Amino acid sequence: MKDRYDVVVVGSGPSAIGLAHKISSNSSKSVLIIEKLNVQNGGMRNDCKISLDYRKSFPEEYWTEESANYYLKEVEEYLKLDFKDVGDISYYTKQSKKYGIELIASRQVHIGTDRSLELINRLINGLKENNVEILLNTEMVSLKYNDRYIVLDNGNKIGFTDLCLCTGRKSATWIQNIMKEEGIEFIDNTVDIGIRIEMRKDSYNILEHLYDPKFVDNINKVRSFCTNSGHALVVKEKYKDFYSLNGHALSSNYAPNGLANFALLKTITLTEPVVSGNDYAKIVGKTAMNVGGGNPIMQRLCDFRDGVRSKVEKFENSIYGFSPTLKTCTAGDIALAAPMKIISSIWSTMKKLDSVCYGVMSPQNVLYYPEIKKYMNKPKFMDNNFQVKDNLYIIGDVGGISRGISAAMASGLKVGDYIIKTC
Ligand SMILES: Cc1cc2nc3c(=O)[nH]c(=O)nc-3n(C[C@H](O)[C@H](O)[C@H](O)COP(=O)(O)OP(=O)(O)OC[C@H]3O[C@@H](n4cnc5c(N)ncnc54)[C@H](O)[C@@H]3O)c2cc1C
Repeated sequence: MKDRYDVVVVGSGPSAIGLAHKISSNSSKSVLIIEKLNVQNGGMRNDCKISLDYRKSFPEEYWTEESANYYLKEVEEYLKLDFKDVGDISYYTKQSKKYGIELIASRQVHIGTDRSLELINRLINGLKENNVEILLNTEMVSLKYNDRYIVLDNGNKIGFTDLCLCTGRKSATWIQNIMKEEGIEFIDNTVDIGIRIEMRKDSYNILEHLYDPKFVDNINKVRSFCTNSGHALVVKEKYKDFYSLNGHALSSNYAPNGLANFALLKTITLTEPVVSGNDYAKIVGKTAMNVGGGNPIMQRLCDFRDGVRSKVEKFENSIYGFSPTLKTCTAGDIALAAPMKIISSIWSTMKKLDSVCYGVMSPQNVLYYPEIKKYMNKPKFMDNNFQVKDNLYIIGDVGGISRGISAAMASGLKVGDYIIKTC
């Protein structure tokens, strides 16, 4: 390993891979990727469904339709995967419109958690063939921007000409500290909070035509997110102060478990006195942990509707048709933990959705709370190449410029183009 590289990339998620691929395929610049884990652990490692639609994961304040589509085409060409076309969803589109909901259906591919490593390894091996160096199990701990080097957890210093921070939404607080130290202005006034629903797959019949439909209810500011089916599982994601829920599914190599899950998230925009999405996520997440005795809360939909807590027996009893896949949740009462504003909006959207896909309101469905997505740092970029200071870039989810694999990769490709052009 050298002590200086033309481009140092921190993180090895899709934004980092896209960036390293672009630079190493089109220039002779030296590139180093630094990853704190032994394999990246975002959505490419989990479930890995990839959608090719700019409306899905490209925040519109940072992307034009034209630019997003340009890079989506590159993502598709680079990944070489078998993207599936959308089936006949005209009925659902018509119904959604009737209830004031937008249905976004896109070409997509689902790899599955058990097979995602094959894809990651293929991409990483391609980077290595292009002479990209990759340093695993190594964390960047601090930045000395004026001297153009970073410090690693083993004490080593690595110099750079360009530094790209691609550290994902889990590092939202860490990156805020870097921005504060470097005098980079940012806002962080939004956060997405909601529930995850688990249901029998046949209660969500649109899944016969589409793996991951996205419904957007602009009136309630609620959207569906991250649908999983096949062998689908609900899981916990650990943050410093709380657990958030998430979902994923195994590939078609595994027998289906007959279940599906998806999140319904409400976007909360904050004003004084709590102006930080990160802070609000902490308040809401900690409250849920307090009410749930240290774990997220699960409740049968019929109990939620009737305003009573779910008891443990409700999840063992076969009359409900299925048991929850995430066992380590507390059977309880979501309404005791969740702000009314969030719950009432989500409940209203669920009722509308039930008229589009009959079964969303089935009494046996399981609601899990909280699902929190706090990837909305908005640094003040110098330009539309996601540069926050000369030669310093914040890319992917941590910069608030993507909300999914394809957009994250697109942001890396875009910055890669810029770095090559300006050398
Ligand atoms: C469980 C889960 C499932 C998801 N499923 C999907 C899905 O199916 N489809 C989809 O489109 N999106 C999905 N997403 C969202 C998707 O993962 C992200 O939008 C995307 O991965 C963002 O890419 P990124 O490159 O910005 O960051 P990430 O993929 O999060 O990668 C960031 C990397 O940086 C590393 N890192 C952080 N800090 C440091 C540091 N200081 N030093 C060194 N390394 C560091 C992290 O370990 C991580 O590997 C999912 C997310 C999760 C968490």
